[in-house]
Amino acid sequence: MNSNPRLKGQSALVTGANSGIGLAVAIALANDGANVVVNYVSHPEVADDVVKQIEKHGGNAIALKADVSKEDEVHAMFQQMYDKYGTIDILVNNAGIQKDSPIESMSLADWQLVINVNLTGQFLCTREAVKEFLRRGIVQERSCAAGKIICMSSVHEVIPWAGHANYAASKGGINMMMKSLAQELAPKKIRVNSIGPGAIQTPINKPAWDTPEALNKLLTLIPYGRIGQPEDIGKVAVWLASDESDYVTGTTIFADGGMLLYPGFSTNG
Ligand code: NAD
Repeated sequence: MNSNPRLKGQSALVTGANSGIGLAVAIALANDGANVVVNYVSHPEVADDVVKQIEKHGGNAIALKADVSKEDEVHAMFQQMYDKYGTIDILVNNAGIQKDSPIESMSLADWQLVINVNLTGQFLCTREAVKEFLRRGIVQERSCAAGKIICMSSVHEVIPWAGHANYAASKGGINMMMKSLAQELAPKKIRVNSIGPGAIQTPINKPAWDTPEALNKLLTLIPYGRIGQPEDIGKVAVWLASDESDYVTGTTIFADGGMLLYPGFSTNG
C-alpha cells in the first residue's frame, strides 16, 4: 500500500473488477487505502484472486457477485457491501461488453444486452450509491465530498464506430447521463465524472492487439505510440476518486495516448 494513501478509510465498489481495467482500478484504489468491493458476474475464482492480491499488499477487499443489469442483484450487492463496510464513498461503474455486428444483422437481443449492461447497469449502481451518499452526507475525516462516481466511458462517446452502433450508443448515453447527474448532484457535494479510455490491452479487444499486424494497425491510431495498459486507467481513477480532484465534476478525462487528436491528419497538413 502507498505510504500516504489518498483514500484511507473510504469504501469503493468497482463493477466488473475481475478482468482488465476494472481489476487494475480495484487494485489501484486498494493501494491508496480504500476498502474495495470486487464485483463480478462470472469466474468467481478470478475475483477471489483479486481479493487475495489486495490483501497480500495490506489492503481490504471482498468479492461480490451481481449482474449490473439486474435491479434485484444490484440492490442485494449494495446491501452486502453495507453489511461489510457500512457505507460507500466511491462507485466505479466499469462493467461493459461489446456485441459487434453490422447494423443490418444486429439482433435486438445484442442491441439490448449492450445497452442493458453498459448504460442501464451504470444507472442502477449509481442510483443505489447516490441514495447512500444523500443519506450519509459528508464525512470530513474521509473526504470533502459526499460521494464520488466514476463512469467508465470510452473515446467512443465521441468517435463514431462503424459495426459497433450498440456500443457507441451506450457510451454516448453514458456521457449525457454523467453530465446530467453531475449537474443534478453538485449542490449535494457529489461528484460525477467519466474516464474515456482509448485502446487498452484487455480481453475485450484482444483481436486488435494479439498479432503484430493487428497491433501495428492499431498503433496508427495512437499518436503516443503504445497501447494503453489497465494501470494507466487505474491511476486516473484514483485521482478522480480522491480530494485532489475536488473541483472536478461533470467531465470526461480521456486517457487515450492522443487517439482523439485525429491522427489521420498528422501528415496531411
Ligand atoms: P474486460 O472484458 O476485460 O472486462 C469487462 C468486465 O465487465 C469483466 O469483468 C466482465 O465480467 C464484466 N461484466 C460484463 N458484463 C457484466 C455484468 N452484466 N455485470 C457485471 N459485470 C459484468 O474489458 P475491459 O477492457 O476491462 O472493459 C472495462 C470497461 O472499459 C468497459 O466499460 C469498456 O467498455 C471500457 N473500455 C475499454 C477499452 C479498452 O480498450 N479495453 C476502451 C474504452 C473503454
